Amino acid sequence: MVERVRMGELCVEWDVAVLGAGAAGLLSAARLAERGLRTLLLEKNRRPGVKILMSGGTRCNLTHDTTARGIAEAYGAQGAFLRAPLAALSPADLVALFHAEGVATQVEPGGKIFPQSNRAADVLAALLARLQRTTCRLETEVTVTGLRPVPTGWEVQTTTGPVGARQVLVSVGGASYPGSGTTGDGYAWLRELGHTIVAPRPALVPLLSEAGWVRELAGVTLERVGVALKTAGGKTAGGESGTGRRERRLAPSRCGWPAGGFLFTHRGISGPAVLNLSREYTALPEGEPAEVLCNFLPDLDEGEVRELLRQRIEGGGARPVQRLLEGLLPQRVADTVCRLAGIAEATRIAELPKRARDALLTQLRQCALPVRGTAGMAKAEVTAGGVALDEVDSRTMASRRCPGLFLAGEILDLDGPIGGYNFQAAFSTGWLAAERMEATAAT
Ligand SMILES: Cc1cc2nc3c(=O)[nH]c(=O)nc-3n(C[C@H](O)[C@H](O)[C@H](O)COP(=O)(O)OP(=O)(O)OC[C@H]3O[C@@H](n4cnc5c(N)ncnc54)[C@H](O)[C@@H]3O)c2cc1C
Repeated sequence: MVERVRMGELCVEWDVAVLGAGAAGLLSAARLAERGLRTLLLEKNRRPGVKILMSGGTRCNLTHDTTARGIAEAYGAQGAFLRAPLAALSPADLVALFHAEGVATQVEPGGKIFPQSNRAADVLAALLARLQRTTCRLETEVTVTGLRPVPTGWEVQTTTGPVGARQVLVSVGGASYPGSGTTGDGYAWLRELGHTIVAPRPALVPLLSEAGWVRELAGVTLERVGVALKTAGGKTAGGESGTGRRERRLAPSRCGWPAGGFLFTHRGISGPAVLNLSREYTALPEGEPAEVLCNFLPDLDEGEVRELLRQRIEGGGARPVQRLLEGLLPQRVADTVCRLAGIAEATRIAELPKRARDALLTQLRQCALPVRGTAGMAKAEVTAGGVALDEVDSRTMASRRCPGLFLAGEILDLDGPIGGYNFQAAFSTGWLAAERMEATAAT
């Protein structure tokens, strides 16, 4: 067991207090202690690593089968910040680290890496095993309430009294899934210390829709749909807001939009394609009307869809129009697409007028699905926004505002796509901070 300490004893000066025992905190605390730094790890929950346990549908998609560069590119404009952390701990390094703890991994088609056991608990157990071999002290059920610079370093205020540490690593995560302990506590302390907090907003979150036809399709899943966001101003974004910033490289498709799994729910839409797009939606001014444009045949270009329809119409004869999209889409979606194209149910395939064919093409390739709101922070897998990246030295993870203060993980203005990118960023930033913090910091 990790040696525990009663908080009454914590008048000792620690080299480092690590705040939050999630992905970033657990790995960095272990690494710091391995380097010989006297390390205290504080966690508000009864148990550490709650989000790890619930991640990836309790399977934990711990990283992605790609290079450091591949991870950085998936982060678009934020990727440059991750260059040094990923050089310190690449996806291959992370996999090797878990292998060394006895966690074999598997790569799924598409590149997600999971433990071979499909048990997130094994990932957490590996992190705890590494931690337990060190002198790090883990204190659970201690909520950090504030941070104050003092002449000897830092005073960490907690629900069980103050703690003194020469340096602090803040790894309390973001504000999403507050039920798991991440309630955005760090933002207020860091703002008070002079950091800019980019407004936190939900990302990787289901989108809501009030359209009757969307709700009627609840429960239908589609393997690949291309998605883009269309705003009232006519602006379309397919994966990264059109600000001229570096594009995110996300599951590209022939249609030019990112494509992926798509799910109709009772409240709207979800699935990887939608979750990845949601950060674009939550970046819009509140209340701005928007539509998700859906391309139901993302791996065919316009000419190919046109030709496919022409062939099917030629050979369709007297069969009802509902059969036209047979094998291309689930029947319920095919019926809806025909209805949205204004095609009467009784129409026979051979009788489809040119106008209806064009309308069908549009509905297949740019079906406009109105969205209004998201499932909120309560159901967001990550938080977009957080501590402004230009206020953190990405070579060390040190705050540029406060000496002796370091930051790692989702508290930063970093949010990656589905696929193991978020854990990789948390582990890499945590690892780099742990490598760079001083064994005996200047006081
Ligand atoms: C349902 C779900 C599924 C996910 N699946 C995946 C996945 O499969 N792959 C992937 O890459 N990402 C996934 N993520 C995202 C991933 O879990 C996070 O990006 C990652 O955990 C962030 O790591 P972190 O260390 O920064 O923060 P966290 O892991 O959130 O850890 C922060 C810790 O700080 C503690 N804390 C907070 N405030 C305080 C305080 N005041 N005092 C003391 N302790 C505090 C929290 O209790 C928590 O233990 C998922 C997220 C969710 C919600």
